[in-house]
Amino acid sequence: MTIDKQLVWVRDPNEGFLLARLQELMGEEADVFPVDNKYPKRVVSFDDIFPAGDPAKDVDDNCELMFLNEATLLNNMLIRYKKRKIYTYVANILLAVNPYEDIPDMYSPSTIKKYHGRSLGELPPHVFAIADKAFRDMKALKQSQSIIVSGESGAGKTESTKYILKYLCELWAKSAGPVEQKILDANPILEAFGNAKTTRNNNSSRFGKFMEVHFNNKYQVVGGHISHYLLEKSRICTQSSEERNYHVFYLLCAGAPQELRAALKITKPDDYLYLKNGCTQYFTTPQSGKKISASQMSKQHQTKGGLRDPILDDVEDFQRLHLALSRVGLTEEEKRSVYSVVAAVLHLGNVEFEEEGGARGGCRVSPHSEGELQVAAGLLGVEAGELRMALVSRLMQSSRGGMKGTAIMVPLKTYEAQNARDALAKAVYSRLFDFIVHRINTSIPFQASSYYIGVLDIAGFEYFQMNSFEQFCINYCNEKLQQFFNERILKNEQELYRREGLHVPEIRFVDNQDCIDLIESKNHGIFHILDEESKLPKPEFSHFTHAIHKELGANNSRLQVPRASRLKAHRTLRDDEGFLLRHFAGAVCYNTQLMDKLKENGTNFVRCIKPNSRMVGGEIEGSLVLTQLQCSGTISVLALMEHGYPSRAPFNDLHQMYNQYLPPKLQSLSPKVFCQAIVHSFGLSDKDYKFGVTRVFFRPGKYSEFDTMMRSDP
Ligand code: ADP
Ligand code: MG
Repeated sequence: MTIDKQLVWVRDPNEGFLLARLQELMGEEADVFPVDNKYPKRVVSFDDIFPAGDPAKDVDDNCELMFLNEATLLNNMLIRYKKRKIYTYVANILLAVNPYEDIPDMYSPSTIKKYHGRSLGELPPHVFAIADKAFRDMKALKQSQSIIVSGESGAGKTESTKYILKYLCELWAKSAGPVEQKILDANPILEAFGNAKTTRNNNSSRFGKFMEVHFNNKYQVVGGHISHYLLEKSRICTQSSEERNYHVFYLLCAGAPQELRAALKITKPDDYLYLKNGCTQYFTTPQSGKKISASQMSKQHQTKGGLRDPILDDVEDFQRLHLALSRVGLTEEEKRSVYSVVAAVLHLGNVEFEEEGGARGGCRVSPHSEGELQVAAGLLGVEAGELRMALVSRLMQSSRGGMKGTAIMVPLKTYEAQNARDALAKAVYSRLFDFIVHRINTSIPFQASSYYIGVLDIAGFEYFQMNSFEQFCINYCNEKLQQFFNERILKNEQELYRREGLHVPEIRFVDNQDCIDLIESKNHGIFHILDEESKLPKPEFSHFTHAIHKELGANNSRLQVPRASRLKAHRTLRDDEGFLLRHFAGAVCYNTQLMDKLKENGTNFVRCIKPNSRMVGGEIEGSLVLTQLQCSGTISVLALMEHGYPSRAPFNDLHQMYNQYLPPKLQSLSPKVFCQAIVHSFGLSDKDYKFGVTRVFFRPGKYSEFDTMMRSDP
């Protein structure tokens, strides 16, 4: 079929792109008629018009498209999704669109077997192919590997991570051995303590993790290790409407045996202020291993009970958690302590304060919540009196000439005591999370390892109406990862050119270093200013913001004066005052304990994509997918590849496509010789095409020129 030259993609705010016919060209714009006549004729800027290939044909690797641009990339993904082909490549990057339903046989043991030892591209794109590539690269290059799984909340990162680990753990043994089983067991525990229902994902991970599977020099699994990053702490005390606190709180309230609940003095979720801010109606939580889809979850939520008895499921989930904790080696007593801490956080949240001693005085624990204070103290194993003092006052140590002076108790105002209470609850819970991860790690047997494959599952860029310091840290990490992504993709491309013997000069690309400098520069960065501010006797948000603008604002295009609405964000920061510095250290630590690791390793990227915001299968919204492709840097990869040879076609494919157009004598040639013969006979320029070892590489737009030439030449 010859391709209509007039057929183009034009940008559309709702669909992403619309297929249209070019009618008339004007100065900077063109008149176009959308092919679907439900859309009216329109005038579109040249910048928003892209050449279309065959819009009905899908390819496994976007680089095989006749025209590679954001419109054809999007179209390829949309038509594939409708055929339930959720995976697509852009060169070595895997794009994975969340199917929101189980696709038969997609992750079965036979599929695992099928992908074993096969090169990328031999079989349809799959997350197993990436896992296998990482394994083969580790062996061939004798180098540890990372798989970076990214995407926005609900895009399928955690599920993909689980499939990668399953692949790595199950492939080389009939069934997972003790180490493998421990690594797989970790997930339900981490999810109970670190996942929550949000508006974007009913089982959203609120922390980042890097899970390492270690291998010996015979490439057998010999150990594992989990690192966690940036647990969202604000959620422990407050959630936006329609959202929940961490699953474990509800498991304890609704699923724990009566005896345990009585001992912890735990009643129903509605009785706790830390659980009340979110949705008042709770329902079952998905734990790994239980097949319950997000769409089923939301249906249940709507139909109040629906398919399953919510109480029963919480019982089941609690038991699963209880068992998993035993499996990682917690004794009955230790488990009891863990539950006590969780319960203590809930009771602590119910401690309220009231003013005492007039305008200049402090506050006291309200008499009606005195009972809660007693219970919380009991569960934490501290004196109720000491806990009370710690909440309503602050210790100030005077110093004279470098010597410590007398300690004075300074009474706190009601709002200060509330902040102290919340800060304590957050600290206690996040230490508990650290403890749990630590125990999981110590339970995984570990022998001396030669290499590892690490899988990074971390939240993508987050934008909320109120962006607190937690979002700032997540976004900063993403900036770093984005820069790393660009570097690596470029490197991978050049590596491929080298392997294929293309001899092309090095490609250069402008990155986001300026934004990173703005944040982390030693003497002027935002972190530096924040650090300075926190050393002041009385840190002030207005002062901090002012300093940022004064030091950095002058001629920096990345920084803007905040609008009025942003003021709220500073207030969020205030809640976390006590933790400012520690957060900061955490973030920096993240970048030095992790970025260095990533840089040493071979890297593989999985970009997860959310098809629709209703969390249902079978529906895909073009503009939503396009935005994610832009935010994840996938579109900028196309720009980056433009500098090289973005389109590529294996000799076999070209042979199959074109031999019908050529005399029989040529048809019998081997694919590679066939391709050399046609290129030679057309007298093509070496600037536009390059011969690799396995395929032909094309400069942007040259593949389609080649195609036209082949089809039109007699
Ligand atoms: P993220 O970690 O990116 O926030 P999740 O991995 O938790 O997202 O995925 C959200 C939900 O989407 C899951 O609970 C599951 O219902 C569904 N889902 C994700 N990936 C798949 C998949 N490969 N197959 C079937 N359902 C999936
Ligand atoms: Mg997740």
